[in-house]
Amino acid sequence: MFKRNDGGEDAPRAVFFDLDNTLYDHRRAAREALAELHRRHDVASSGAGVDDFVRLFFDVNQRMWLKLATGEMDVKTLRAERFAELFARVGAPAPSDAAALGREYLDVYLSYSYPLPGAEETLAALEPLLPLGLLTNGFADIQRPKVARLGWEKYFAWLAVAEELGVFKPDAAIYEKMCEMAGLPPGRILYVGDSPVEDVIAGRRVGLRTVWVRREGPEVARWAAEADADYEVADVRDVVPLVKRILGKG
Ligand SMILES: [Mg+2]
Repeated sequence: MFKRNDGGEDAPRAVFFDLDNTLYDHRRAAREALAELHRRHDVASSGAGVDDFVRLFFDVNQRMWLKLATGEMDVKTLRAERFAELFARVGAPAPSDAAALGREYLDVYLSYSYPLPGAEETLAALEPLLPLGLLTNGFADIQRPKVARLGWEKYFAWLAVAEELGVFKPDAAIYEKMCEMAGLPPGRILYVGDSPVEDVIAGRRVGLRTVWVRREGPEVARWAAEADADYEVADVRDVVPLVKRILGKG
């Protein structure tokens, strides 16, 4: 599990977490919100089932988020256009107001609250050991209420939301801003995330000490060889014993 010397000299001084699919079950909340939209807007009459609708959404969404990171698209456009394109892809009639549909999706999404099992216990156990931070790639008006509703603000010394920082993962600038915020060099920050691309590969590139929460998913198999994390865990709960060992407290 340990790939380098963890001597006290370079011991981590903070732990930053990714939010979606690391601490929060974003996939489940998104899927349920999309199923609700599918029902409300009678997408089934176009012949597309819920599974196709969800799969296509993630496909369209992922490509548009990469455009955010490279500056080819802005947030407002993404929020509307991902639904305009999704409806076109499933052959449903074009929404009369794609921006309103985008807002409707986010409202339904926010009506759920799905922390991942063990996430809160992990934060509660780590917070007395090291200051904690959150670095999330989302929108401010979604991620902040989500965290508030979970009652997790009390665990975090720093809450960094990509939209507010004006840069998105995996742009190196976002991790640099996170380090600035914490007043620490990247080598002193343990950064915990589920995405091999946005968390592990991009994090290592700027010198963060990465912990890959290797949850099941198609991305994992595709990037396993390249995602050379400093540490790997199967579950976010495993971060507690890992930090204790690194700090010589376990
Ligand atoms: Mg994530």
